[in-house]
Amino acid sequence: MEIEINDRSLSLIQGDITISSTEVIVNAANSSLMGGGGVDGAIHKVGGPVILKECKIIIKKQGNLPPGKAVITTGGNLKAKYVIHTVGPIWSGGNRKEADLLVSSYKESLKLAEKNNLHSISFPSISTGAYGYPVNKAARLALKTVTSFLKEEASSIREVVFVLYGYKTYDIYQTALSEIKI
Ligand code: ADP
Repeated sequence: MEIEINDRSLSLIQGDITISSTEVIVNAANSSLMGGGGVDGAIHKVGGPVILKECKIIIKKQGNLPPGKAVITTGGNLKAKYVIHTVGPIWSGGNRKEADLLVSSYKESLKLAEKNNLHSISFPSISTGAYGYPVNKAARLALKTVTSFLKEEASSIREVVFVLYGYKTYDIYQTALSEIKI
C-alpha cells in the first residue's frame, strides 16, 4: 500500500527491514544500545560488528539513550547506508507517557534523517514487540506522526517505508492508514 503526501511517498510493506534498500533504516533499540532480540538483533546480525562498535562509542560519550531519543550509526554490511537507533517506550498501561514517547521516537528519527540530508527511511513497528505497545494504538500514532511530518516539515525526506514483520501487523497498519485523514 502506498500513498502520496506533499509529493512524497509513504508506503507499507510486509517483510524484513534488514533487506530494505532505503538510505537509512530505523532500529527499535533498547537504552543500552548493546543489541538484543527482535528487530535489534536482526539488524546487528546482518549489519555486522561495526554497528555495535559505533553504538559503544556513543554510549561512552553520552550514557544510555533515553526513550524517545535517537542516534545514528553506519549501516555496516546492510544495504542501508545508515541505521538510526531509537528507544521506544515500554508499555505499562498507557498512563506513563507512552504515547508521547512513541511519537517522539518517530519524530526524532525523522529529524535526525533530515539533519543528515537523507532521502529515504524505513521504520519497523517500534515498541510493539518485546515492549508490548498495543499494535492498533501504536500504528495510529506512528502513521499520524509520519503523515503530518511529511505534510508540514519534510525537506530532504522523499520516501518513508514501514516494513512490517508479519501479516497481522501489516493488516493493522493498513487499516490505520486508511482511516487517517491526510
Ligand atoms: P520493541 O522492543 O521496540 O518492542 P521488537 O524488536 O521486539 O522491538 O519489536 C518491534 C517490531 O519489530 C515487532 O513488530 C516485531 O515483530 C518486528 N520485527 C522483528 N524483526 C524484524 C525485522 N527483521 N524486520 C522488521 N520488523 C521486525
